Amino acid sequence: MTYDVIVAGAGPAGSTAARLLAGRGASVLLLERHAFPRDKPCGGGVTLRAAAAQDLDLSPVVERTIYGVRFSLRLGPGFQRRFRAPLSYMTQRCRLDAFLAERAAEAGAAFHDGEAVREVDVHPNGGSGFSNGGSGFSLTPVGVAVRTDRDTYTASILIGADGANGLVGRAAGLRPDFEEAVALEANVPFAHDIPDAWKEYVALDVGGLAGGYGWVFPKGQHLNVGVGAWKYAAFTLRPKLARLCRRYGFDPARLEDLRGHHLPVRVPGTPIASGPVALVGDAAGLVDPLSGEGIHMAFASGRLAAASALAVLSGAAPDMLAYQRAVDRRLQPELTVSRKLQELFNFAPPPYVAVMRRSEKFWLFFCHLIRGELTYLDFVRLIGPLRLAVDFFAAAAQRRRLAKVAALAPLIRGG
Ligand SMILES: Cc1cc2nc3c(=O)[nH]c(=O)nc-3n(C[C@H](O)[C@H](O)[C@H](O)COP(=O)(O)OP(=O)(O)OC[C@H]3O[C@@H](n4cnc5c(N)ncnc54)[C@H](O)[C@@H]3O)c2cc1C
Repeated sequence: MTYDVIVAGAGPAGSTAARLLAGRGASVLLLERHAFPRDKPCGGGVTLRAAAAQDLDLSPVVERTIYGVRFSLRLGPGFQRRFRAPLSYMTQRCRLDAFLAERAAEAGAAFHDGEAVREVDVHPNGGSGFSNGGSGFSLTPVGVAVRTDRDTYTASILIGADGANGLVGRAAGLRPDFEEAVALEANVPFAHDIPDAWKEYVALDVGGLAGGYGWVFPKGQHLNVGVGAWKYAAFTLRPKLARLCRRYGFDPARLEDLRGHHLPVRVPGTPIASGPVALVGDAAGLVDPLSGEGIHMAFASGRLAAASALAVLSGAAPDMLAYQRAVDRRLQPELTVSRKLQELFNFAPPPYVAVMRRSEKFWLFFCHLIRGELTYLDFVRLIGPLRLAVDFFAAAAQRRRLAKVAALAPLIRGG
């Protein structure tokens, strides 16, 4: 069967792209390896800025609304701060992703869950066939053939939304370079309700993990507890998770559903589109390095990919390269600043934590950033010429960290 667009993967990026395309009249096949609903290792935090990148009302799957943060440094004493308006929504990925996939199907996408993409052939038959995928769009070249466990499908465009270990990028010859982080998370269940003190607060413990942090996120009937770090520090995550639990008064033996997963951070400029293929979300490495947040960019890149695909289908663009240009212009600059701030912050967290505690201005900037009212680029504009110092010290901090990692590598490998 032939479609205008095949989307591989029904996470936040894939379902967003599929829904927007189907809503504009394209014939869309949304292929998902797992039978839905399925869970995914994730804190499920959807910040206000992420929600603003989505044109759907997510309230049916929001379990808690967060107004405040409990900060601590290296599991030490903490302090809490509260904002007058919501900062983030708390969801469970099994519910959020099922909701988004249902909306894509409602818009007209054919949703095949439990059907994994196994092989991709770009420009099948030398690219000589043309189709409009049975929709009202003009005839465009059949750009891809996709083989699954059940069938083979063809389409003009393939959107690889198959996550951090995605196959589409490799199969289509797209190999974006990633710096890799990992995160581990688990749940502390409660029989009826979570403690009141957690209902509107998250906890963030910073400074004790290489490039990452620990968190406590409240859900309907459990607390999600997690830790993330650069991949070379993965061996520190389990003991750290247990200590994080104890820090907040939970017995680590109560943890359920312990799971880990990669967080890919794209090296700017590396390829995420070629001919009829584009990668979105984690498949493109579009995770915010400082916050570890990926749902925001999954929504945003899904939207950009849908817009580029519509341009190809209507004959206004020859291929999906405009998508990569749009990501590089509109999303990547934010991620690049975030990457520098991550390096700076993790070099010496105590002063930033002290400023967060004492400075109303700094706290408000953090809140406006999370809410999408200010951006990392606004921060760079605000500090003016000091941005040169940020560049300099971030690069120096990165060099120092990498030298340390290189020196420790034989010890880490030797266990
Ligand atoms: C422990 C942890 C905690 C996190 N917490 C947060 C958080 O609180 N907030 C936040 O914003 N981000 C968080 N992230 C990051 C976030 O989970 C990802 O950035 C986000 O899921 C990316 O969405 P996506 O749609 O690109 O990919 P995914 O959500 O990974 O979806 C990819 C989909 O593709 C499917 N798939 C894979 N291969 C195939 C195939 N061959 N054929 C068909 N389907 C396939 C998968 O089954 C999956 O459903 C966290 C990550 C981790 C690891």
